[in-house]
Amino acid sequence: MKKTFKIGGVHPNDNKLTSDAIIEVFPVLDTAYISMAQHLGAPAEPIVQKGDKVRVGQVIGKPTGFISGFVHSSVSGTVTSVEPLPDLAGNPVTHVVIAVEGDEWCEEIDRTPDIKRDIPYSSEEIIEKIKNAGIVGLGGAAFPTHVKLNPPKDKKAEFLILNGSECEPYVTADDRIMKERPEEILIGAAIMMKALNVDKAFVGIEENKPQAIASMKKAAEAFPQIEIVTLKKKYPQGGEKQLIDSVTGRRVPSMGLPIDVGVVVQNVGTSLAVYEAVQKNQPLFEGVVTVTGHCVTEQRNFLLRIGTPFSKILDAVGGLPKDAAKFISGGPMMGKAVANIDASTLKGTSAFLLMTEEETRRKEEGNCIRCGKCTEACPMGLEPYLLNKLCRAGNRYDDLEKEKIFDCIECGCCLYTCPANIPLLDIIRINKAEVIKIMRNRPKK
Ligand code: SF4
Ligand code: SF4
Repeated sequence: MKKTFKIGGVHPNDNKLTSDAIIEVFPVLDTAYISMAQHLGAPAEPIVQKGDKVRVGQVIGKPTGFISGFVHSSVSGTVTSVEPLPDLAGNPVTHVVIAVEGDEWCEEIDRTPDIKRDIPYSSEEIIEKIKNAGIVGLGGAAFPTHVKLNPPKDKKAEFLILNGSECEPYVTADDRIMKERPEEILIGAAIMMKALNVDKAFVGIEENKPQAIASMKKAAEAFPQIEIVTLKKKYPQGGEKQLIDSVTGRRVPSMGLPIDVGVVVQNVGTSLAVYEAVQKNQPLFEGVVTVTGHCVTEQRNFLLRIGTPFSKILDAVGGLPKDAAKFISGGPMMGKAVANIDASTLKGTSAFLLMTEEETRRKEEGNCIRCGKCTEACPMGLEPYLLNKLCRAGNRYDDLEKEKIFDCIECGCCLYTCPANIPLLDIIRINKAEVIKIMRNRPKK
């Protein structure tokens, strides 16, 4: 039987237009613009300056806090500037700009196609290698992986779950790597199991990827400790808490973390990056990006170096479609609007989605008819119509806290399902940030 989570969820059209498009290597361009804010937490601090020569895989930014990470060059060439440039949203972020010369990689990176199966490293060595390679979660949050693999001493991991559900419509990056590189993904899982000292792992994959399920099951024959679990197609199947519920039946408590129920979740893309870091000494400077949308002339999956401008990606897929009205980094449910098309790809970029005016037009907002559909759809058991009412009343932060607004995972199921077209997610997101700020600043008792 296909497993799924118990509360809420919706069924948007999955629009996986690129599931048959094999991963193509995107050409290296003449300039790379590498952001120092590639991960959740404090941005990295640049350690190169104008005029420095760099190679592919060389460290160019160092972490500045516990939750931070190394940033490596994705190209070889000369640093032409270290300066603030607008990010996706148009906000200034420090970038290292590199004029590309050739494609010279650091020599410790193993570029042979051989698959390395033995894992001769201790748990500490693995975590150190992952940290030094700047690996971050590639499922959306870009949380530094070495931190997640090193839970507090009073918490014990029992299972590792790899997230291969890729429930976001349109995105097929994980689908393709599961079809094309299943063994490396599973070696990555075995490496993380060793780091966590757990002897059981699961890979959850939505049923709409039958070839990926078949390819992962075949590869998993050599990994008896790793089980491939077919999940029902239901959004947000890939939400961490939903995935844990689907696979293990365990419920992460309100305000809690997966480790509170003995689980660590990593994305399949992260697992591949872990394999490359630990077995091939390759830091995270490239990743698979789906370029898609019904208006796009050539929908494709690319292996892209970080620091590639979105505008240049468009050139490779037939140019900017005349009717494209909205650009999204990621999928339509949880992706981020790209306000600045000259911004560059990050480690966590999984997709570049173009949508037309027609596809994105918001219908006129009506009054709440108290149908309860948003509550039914909310996978976190919240009451979005009530949160909306409290948010609009203004300054009701205590009440919003009581209603657990902080548990909202910003999945957009409420917005998707509301017949009155109330922008529930937008309103809830702004107020959630405010409530979390208040909670963090509250003096500890
Ligand atoms: S966006 Fe938040 S409130 Fe809306 S359905 Fe998702 S978790 Fe619930
Ligand atoms: S789905 Fe929309 S109309 Fe229905 S109760 Fe929720 S907010 Fe009101």
